[in-house]
Amino acid sequence: MPPDVSLVLDFLNTLDVEEDVDTLASAGRWHAWTHERELPADPPDEVRPVRDALRAAVGDPAARPGPARAAVEVALTERGPELVTSSAVGAVLAAAARLAVLGEWERVKICPADNCHWAFYDRSRNRSRTWCSMKVCGNREKARAFRERTAAEPPER
Ligand SMILES: [Zn+2]
Repeated sequence: MPPDVSLVLDFLNTLDVEEDVDTLASAGRWHAWTHERELPADPPDEVRPVRDALRAAVGDPAARPGPARAAVEVALTERGPELVTSSAVGAVLAAAARLAVLGEWERVKICPADNCHWAFYDRSRNRSRTWCSMKVCGNREKARAFRERTAAEPPER
C-alpha cells in the first residue's frame, strides 16, 4: 500500500470502534503511534478534532464534521518539490492532499457497519466497495438484515 494511503488509514483507525480502542485516549499509545512513524506527538486535544473531521469527511456518521487545518509548506528538495510540516496532523493532511491531487481521495472510506466503522482503501476499479471486508462486515450485515427481517415477521403457529 502506498505510504500516503497507510498513513491516512492508520490515522483514521486510531479510533478502533470494534475493539473500543482510542489511541488518542492514551498518551503512551499516541506517543508510540507517532514514534513508530517518525512524527512529532502533537497534543491529543489538537489531533482529535482533525481526526473527527477527517473521519466525517470519509463517511463516519458518528464523527463530528468540522474544519481541519495544519501548517504545511512546499519545499524544493533534492528529491523535487515536497510538502513539509512539523506536526503529525500536518503530515496526515499532506498525505490526504496528495491522494486528492491524484484523484484517489474518494477511495478512502469508512465501513458503514455500526460496530465496525473501520477506515479502508477501496481498490475496486469502479470504487464501488462499501464494506471494509466483504467476508467479515458484508456477511455480518447480511446476516443482521436477515435476522431483522425474520424477527419482524409474526411467529408461525
Ligand atoms: Zn467493517
